[in-house]
Amino acid sequence: MKKIAILTSGGDAPGMNAALRAAVRSAIYYGMEVYGIERGYEGLIDGDIRQMDVSSVGDIMHRGGTILGTARSERFMTQEGQKRAVGMLENFEIEGLVVIGGDGSLRGGLELSKKGVRVMGIPGTIDNDLAYTDFTIGFDTAVNTVLGAISNIRDTSSAHERSTVIEVMGRRCGDIALYAGLTGGAETILIPEIPVDINALCRKVIQGRNRGKKHNLIIKAEGVNISSQELAAVIGERTGVDTKIVVLGYIQRGGSPTARDRMLASRMASKAVELLKDDSLSKAIGISGDCIVEYDLEEALHMGREFETDIMKLADILSI
Ligand code: ATP
Repeated sequence: MKKIAILTSGGDAPGMNAALRAAVRSAIYYGMEVYGIERGYEGLIDGDIRQMDVSSVGDIMHRGGTILGTARSERFMTQEGQKRAVGMLENFEIEGLVVIGGDGSLRGGLELSKKGVRVMGIPGTIDNDLAYTDFTIGFDTAVNTVLGAISNIRDTSSAHERSTVIEVMGRRCGDIALYAGLTGGAETILIPEIPVDINALCRKVIQGRNRGKKHNLIIKAEGVNISSQELAAVIGERTGVDTKIVVLGYIQRGGSPTARDRMLASRMASKAVELLKDDSLSKAIGISGDCIVEYDLEEALHMGREFETDIMKLADILSI
């Protein structure tokens, strides 16, 4: 393959720029022409495509967001939009496409693959919700951002002897809450995968207070089926402990990627380009243990997610 393109799509994630840098530089190293597509599938449909060189990805590895821009594209969800996208790749004689994004973006890539484009999917999302890979790019940075916030909130929570519900991102997957909750020493972690036990939660708040604990941190993923307001009200009513809410929101998306995310992004993106160089069929790139792995794109997207019960159990043990 001699000409390839790269796009970033869906929610931005720290490490997308590191992946872009690695893909561009690896492609140039292997003697390929490489193009950047702006605003994900929207830009592909509109032909916002420009050639990248070594210096166009200089000084970006440490930056959050994505220099290509990203979008959610309604037009690309239609057959007509997808046909236009394929036509645009043909106009530029682009043979292979690297898609950096979450589950939806990789599904979009699969549609292109069914229409004859060779697609390499790279998991770029803070949610860590893709079943086929142990970790996604951006997850580690998001967890560390939440950890910083937990530490600040703990100080004020202790000073006022309050309980605090900290709402973090994760609609279907509670990994951010789970990893940040365990490493931040939260008293309770609430995730969409496990039903909320209000009695146990209130018992823990009361037992903690009786032991002289000054703070009580509850990390709750946004997808848990009780709102943070409702939860705080119930805890306040049932325990008498003043309970505040902090919704962390978009600060979890931004920031300079951690070394771990930069490494993951660099390794995955370089692998994607190597596979395109070798005219591979469409793949999803992931990590298993410490190994970069690739799966057939369609098979990867059909894999079911297994919830890490052992980590939840450890968090429970350590927060007694
Ligand atoms: P995040 O995990 O951060 O939300 P994502 O990649 O899952 O990222 P989505 O909004 O689900 O974000 O998808 C991004 C874009 O990919 C969509 O706006 C749409 O253009 C395309 N896309 C999503 N699902 C499909 C699909 N089933 N078929 C074709 N295209 C899709």
